Amino acid sequence: MMALTGLQIQKLLPKTNCRECGSNTCMAFAMKLAAKKAEIAECPYASEDAIQILGAASEPPVRGIALGPDRMLKLGEETVLYRHEKTFFHQTALAVNINDTDSSSMIEETLTTVHEYRMERVGETFRIDMAAVTQRGADVNGFVALAKRAWETTGLPLVVRSESPAALKAAAIAVKGSRSVLAAATPETLDELHNIAAANNHILAVTAPDLDSLYRSAAKLRETGFQDILLQFQTSSLAEQFQTNSAIRRAALKDAVKPLGYPFLRFLNQRADLLEIAAGAITEIDKYGGICVLPVFDPALLAALMTLRLNVYTDPQKPIQVEPKVYPIGEPRPDSPVFVTTNFSLTYFTVSGEIENSGTSGWLVVPECEGMSVLTAWAAGKFSGASIAKFVKDVGLEKQVTTREIVIPGYVAQISGELEENLPGWKVLVGPQDAADIESFIKMQKATIKTQK
Ligand code: SF4
Repeated sequence: MMALTGLQIQKLLPKTNCRECGSNTCMAFAMKLAAKKAEIAECPYASEDAIQILGAASEPPVRGIALGPDRMLKLGEETVLYRHEKTFFHQTALAVNINDTDSSSMIEETLTTVHEYRMERVGETFRIDMAAVTQRGADVNGFVALAKRAWETTGLPLVVRSESPAALKAAAIAVKGSRSVLAAATPETLDELHNIAAANNHILAVTAPDLDSLYRSAAKLRETGFQDILLQFQTSSLAEQFQTNSAIRRAALKDAVKPLGYPFLRFLNQRADLLEIAAGAITEIDKYGGICVLPVFDPALLAALMTLRLNVYTDPQKPIQVEPKVYPIGEPRPDSPVFVTTNFSLTYFTVSGEIENSGTSGWLVVPECEGMSVLTAWAAGKFSGASIAKFVKDVGLEKQVTTREIVIPGYVAQISGELEENLPGWKVLVGPQDAADIESFIKMQKATIKTQK
């Protein structure tokens, strides 16, 4: 169903302007519904017809799927093709695969790694989201035991993969409660696996040799009311993967093709080399991937993928920011140098890292700049001499340190006079433009002081 306009929605409402929904008029409420900022349930007088029509119209074009026992891992609910149109909501989940034919030492090592892996970046900690367990051997009991072991070791939702419905059923029961993914139902096994997934509260991935069959399978499941669906496409090249992901997401968002409005599941080729795996995973992250299963654990690859994912899925209207305050870097004393930068996370972590790398302890003053970088904040009037001086006074820095020199970023040298005016008794030093030059700047300052002595 195409999205309804505010006017079309208003025609379906009671038009009594009773305000019980919190809006002043039915029209105002209709506009909120059109913008997906309200739900029809908030109007107690909406007719059954209106509820049915508007309920379907307000359903997100890409269904939200929650995984894990606590349903904390979320996929889907996307509303735009391009991040700058609004934002992306739920990032591509990354999983690492183990096969039941892998050696027991390799299985143990991979499971432990998946469980313990942590990566810190711009103040956030990232983990591997899921483990995938693939049946390649003939021993169903071994496969089921492995799925159970993966669930118990990692505590993460799984992707459980087998071509045998019987093996998937046994594994689904063994990991019941984990709200995992069963992969995958073909047109032939759809009915049987649908029942297994529904009975054990798991998600069902559907696959088919062509998109028409995949569409029919998803549509058939929808008709039963089962909505815990992932779409697994069969593609034979990176170009086809890119095109298929893009075309299907466009069909869901722009043409409201409901059976295609589900998150995707992608297993990357186990026989691919690391470069091909990286290209496949990057394509998933860039082009709407729901779950991307990596055939191997490679720390360098994961770090790169998680960084890329952070960039793609950060809300462009809400930059990642750190708390405005004075940060001690190393073990500063009252007479240690004082630096200032903005509270955009990337800027903060780059500058603090460079100060730390220089081996110098110091104080890093980070005023409120709404998460903007140095030049943007300056252009927006959020990083001026007056605002920095006010922040320095408000946080009581003058009582905390005896230093009376403050180093500002080289890009905003023009604020030095204003800052000195607003901070009587302080000397403003213009630091380097590039954070990478902080270390040499500090060395130069120390050398100058020695010479003066
Ligand atoms: S509660 Fe319903 S009838 Fe009343 S103003 Fe809101 S939309 Fe109109």
